[in-house]
Parts: sequence; C-alpha cells; structure tokens
Amino acid sequence: MYNPNDPALRSWVDVPPGSDFPVQNLPFGIFQHRTSAGQSTPRVGVAIGSYVLDLRVLGELGYLDDVKIPDPTVFDRPFLNDFIALGKPVTRAVRERISDLLRSDNPRLRDHYDHRGRVLIYQTEARLLMPVRVGDYTDFYSSIEHATNVGTMFRDPANALLPNWRHLPVGYHGRASSIVVSGTDIRRPNGQTKPPDAAVPVFGPSGQLDFELEMAFVVGKATELGRSIPVSKAEEHIFGLLLFNDWSARDIQAWEYVPLGPFLGKNFASSVSPWVVTLEALAPFRTAGPAQEPPVLPYLQTEGDQNYDIQLEVAIQPDGGAEKRVCRSNARYLYWNASQQLAHHTVNGCNVNVGDLCASGTISGPTPDAYGSLLELAWKGTQPIPMANGSVRTFLLDGDTVTMRGYAEKAGVRIGFGEVRGKIV
Ligand code: CA
Repeated sequence: MYNPNDPALRSWVDVPPGSDFPVQNLPFGIFQHRTSAGQSTPRVGVAIGSYVLDLRVLGELGYLDDVKIPDPTVFDRPFLNDFIALGKPVTRAVRERISDLLRSDNPRLRDHYDHRGRVLIYQTEARLLMPVRVGDYTDFYSSIEHATNVGTMFRDPANALLPNWRHLPVGYHGRASSIVVSGTDIRRPNGQTKPPDAAVPVFGPSGQLDFELEMAFVVGKATELGRSIPVSKAEEHIFGLLLFNDWSARDIQAWEYVPLGPFLGKNFASSVSPWVVTLEALAPFRTAGPAQEPPVLPYLQTEGDQNYDIQLEVAIQPDGGAEKRVCRSNARYLYWNASQQLAHHTVNGCNVNVGDLCASGTISGPTPDAYGSLLELAWKGTQPIPMANGSVRTFLLDGDTVTMRGYAEKAGVRIGFGEVRGKIV
C-alpha cells in the first residue's frame, strides 16, 4: 500500500531545508492567488515547500479524475467544510493522490511544464484565508501545568486544581464569530475592570492583554443531536489540527468570570494558523500522554498513544524591534487528549458539525520557560519578561506582534504548522 508518510519520499517541487511543508505533510487551506490582474476566487490549496498547489485547477486539468470525489466543484469554495464533509476515505485518497503526483519519480505532472505553472503558486503570491467556516467553538482547559499555575496564583497552591479537574476535561463554549486567520490585527478590547484597591469598577482599555498558546482540532464528521461519540471512535470525527492563539484580557476576565465563567475577556478574538495539518500526516508523531491518576471513568478511557509530539513556541516582536522567543512548549504535555475532549463534549447528546473547533486550552510545560501565557511567564506581573530592545513585558503592549509556531520532527521529516501571528493595535 502506498505510504505518503514514508520518510524516504522526495518531491520534484523544491522544498527548502527546514520547511514546514515537505511532501509528507500536505496540509489543506484556503487561498486567493494575487496577480497584477487582480485576485482569484477563494479556493482549496495544499502547501508544498514554498508553494501552494491549486486543487481547483489540478482537478480541472484531470489529475484527480480517478479519485472518487462525489462533487468535483468542492475545491472551488471559500472554506474547507464541504471538502472535509466528504469524509476520510475521500480526503485521504486526495492526499495520497497529491503525494503521488508530487513525488520526484513520477513524471506525470513533473514533466508537464505548462500544467506545473498553472497549479503551483508561490506562497508569497497567495493570500491565505480562514480555512474553515467555524460554526461552534469550544475551549478546553486540558494542560495540568497551566491549570495548576493559574490555581496557584489565584487560589491556594495546596489545592491548585479544583476537585473536578482530574475527572473530566473542563471546557466552556467560546465565540465562533471572532475567530480570525493569522495576520489579522487584534484590537485591544475595552471593558469593565475592578482595580484591587477600588470600590467600584472602571471602564476602559484592558491593561492585561495576553496570549494563550493552544492547538485546536477541526471536527471532520457531524453527529446528530442526541448521539454521543465513543472515545474509541473520536478520531474518526477529527480532520486535523491547527495552531490557535486564544487572546485573553486578564483584568476583564478576573472581574466578570464569577459565577458563569469566561465572557468578554475571552470572546473579542482568537487567531488560527491558515493550514490544517491532517491527523494522517501527524500519525508518525503519536506519543503517550501523561498518566491519568485517579483513573478516569470508562467513557473517557483511551488506549495507546493518544498525544502528539508537536514542538510549540511563542515569540513577541515589539513595534520596530527584534523578535524575542518567550516560550517553548509541546502538545504532548496535554493531560486530556482530543478523543477524550470530543467524547466528553458529546456524552450528553450535544451534536457537533464539520468545521467546529475545539481548542486545547493553554499548553504549558513543566518548566517556567514552557509556560504558554504571559500571565504565567511573568507570574501575574511579578517577573517581567525582557525583550530584545531592553523593554520588558508583563502583558502585551500596543504594537506588539505575537507569533506562534509549531512542528513535529522525526527521521529527518518535519511536519510543520506554519505560524499564527497577530499584532496588537
Ligand atoms: Ca483558552
């Protein structure tokens, strides 16, 4: 059987060393081709090296003819939802066909220079758009290091985790309308805050704007209301992963969150990376998650390697200054895995739809340089983080650009996510 993850595969498309997008990756996204004549319509593309492969044109030229695609116009859409909804047998077959067409020993497209010029577009000439139409967004709280840090800061270090935390993947329903693609500026939110020494709240711009380093999975298969997804079948309902920056206004959050939880301190913006990396491409990077103690209830019990070894980092670039890396973490630290999140989400009969996003929650690691938010890195403002230009940060300033990157790497193959970037204005 053809193995698109084979580390020995090479492409005839130039893939620069250190590229996130070798032929083993082939993530899906939505792009517009920008030329001097204008912009193309939004359509489905796949990243390869420094290029985007235009699947609409690839299909029109007949290269996907014998892949059984029920609706060939599915690549001519402004979101991936309709393609994803075709199901894994189809999306997998498309990925395998693309891999086969791009591999160095296949002359079919390689030697057809006219077609090559039509289907391959420089990423610098492509505008990357929101990859999916997000119907619903759920944010989990699945890092034990993050939950412990926050519990230690705001409550009692001896009882940092609330009694439910080790028994269920805590989450809340977020806001889908304000999820934006990488590169979109983030406006500092206004809101109510209550300074500790004030008797009454004040209104104004948040003074404690923060990032949260997260990953999110894209739901790939819908369920009917009243049905649950068994934990053992959950990955059949997950199309792939992307990077997720869940911007947070800590001062607004602190005043508003009792008793119903996060609201305006969280829903003003979240940013996603433009490429969705499939679970198939990530399969070689599966790894064991942390041991769960006490044992979880049977409906949450998983077997085998359920986490992914994905290196993550966050950098802050002050306006006009140099970028400074402030965090290195890894998705494998997550206590609750995606299958458990989705099984728990639907155990009461709540239905999910293609394109829904479920974010992991801030992914902090065990050491202080692996904390996934400024709240933790600067420990509630008590340990300012130095920037390259000599200034310091406890929270984000206007003009700061936050960039998150992620990649899995093994046997000389790097499966990258690109980046998710946003500037505070
Ligand atoms: Ca979050």
